[in-house]
Amino acid sequence: MSLFAVPDFSEFQSLLHSPTTTDVEAVLQKDKLHINDLATLLSPAAGEMLPALALRSAAITSQRFGHVIQMYAPVYVSSFCNNNCVYCGFSAENKIARRMLSLDEAEVEMNILADRGFSHVLLVSGEAPGKVGVAYLAELARRTRDRFAALTIEVQPLSSADYCTLFEAGITGVAVYQETYDRAVYEQVHLAGKKADYDYRLETPARAAEAGMREVGIGALMGLSDWRSEGLVLGMHLAWLRKHFWRTNVSVSFPRMRPAEGAYEPPLPAGEKELTQLLFALRIFDWDVGLVLSTREEERYRNGMIGLGPTRYSAGSCTAPGGYANPEIEGEQFSVGDHRDLQEVCASIRLKNHDPVCKDWDATFQKGF
Ligand code: SF4
Repeated sequence: MSLFAVPDFSEFQSLLHSPTTTDVEAVLQKDKLHINDLATLLSPAAGEMLPALALRSAAITSQRFGHVIQMYAPVYVSSFCNNNCVYCGFSAENKIARRMLSLDEAEVEMNILADRGFSHVLLVSGEAPGKVGVAYLAELARRTRDRFAALTIEVQPLSSADYCTLFEAGITGVAVYQETYDRAVYEQVHLAGKKADYDYRLETPARAAEAGMREVGIGALMGLSDWRSEGLVLGMHLAWLRKHFWRTNVSVSFPRMRPAEGAYEPPLPAGEKELTQLLFALRIFDWDVGLVLSTREEERYRNGMIGLGPTRYSAGSCTAPGGYANPEIEGEQFSVGDHRDLQEVCASIRLKNHDPVCKDWDATFQKGF
């Protein structure tokens, strides 16, 4: 299989910066977009036309997804990490109290979320395979899969064979964000550990899809490099995955940096306006992609975006291992921006005439049970 090749950011700057408002209007009339059209939607000219982009994005989202918003919550199972990512609270360099949940403790966290009504749980850990490895994740999935419609993971990149093992055990999806597609910046912010290998990480979504995962999640951490360029390469990566793995759903996340241990200052912070443009542009570019808006963003912003493009919201999230059973526990990866629980977020979604759903497909059917 060919590999996804990331162009140098300098190669497409004129594509991103030369479009006019007339070019944007023309793209908004199209049904099938080329990657150059995505560049037009990410341009400064399109940034001046957000209401028009919002209308188009909302119409496409309504047509493809109805009024449904899927709900999920993360379960952090370990804060141990072998890597040194300068922007992250779990970085090996940070002197924080670290914690790894036993299988029983992780199950308790998951049961709390099941009792709250969640049916999609994202298992998250730092990248320390000696702590949270395939055997741990597979056993946790086997123990809990009957209680959840979707069990996804955001852990260290794994081999295709490992993803096959996890899929058999009940894991249905893999989220792995490149953080930045800008290779030079990537090297500057990933100083040590396996994550310093840009290419291995880049190829991970393909390995997960190859193993049969129902969904792969990709994304870039907004703030590390130029957001327009990151958005364009995200679109290229998305299109490439669609072409090679048409059976696998692809979702995209747009995590903006949050305050974390280490107090890293992002060099190119992106605001809500930039995030909004990126989100609309990707929706208009790919009508079927899942767009995730997590609790990194604040209540006001998340409420305002209901119905305009995102299709998945998290709620009541805690980013410290053990934080659902013990809300006083310290050791968050980052502090969240929206502290509402599931019921409160669902109420806001319903106020906008949308339906929050905790289960949108039957995992037992997919596993062939
Ligand atoms: S971003 Fe992930 S890999 Fe990097 S230090 Fe944080 S937990 Fe570890």
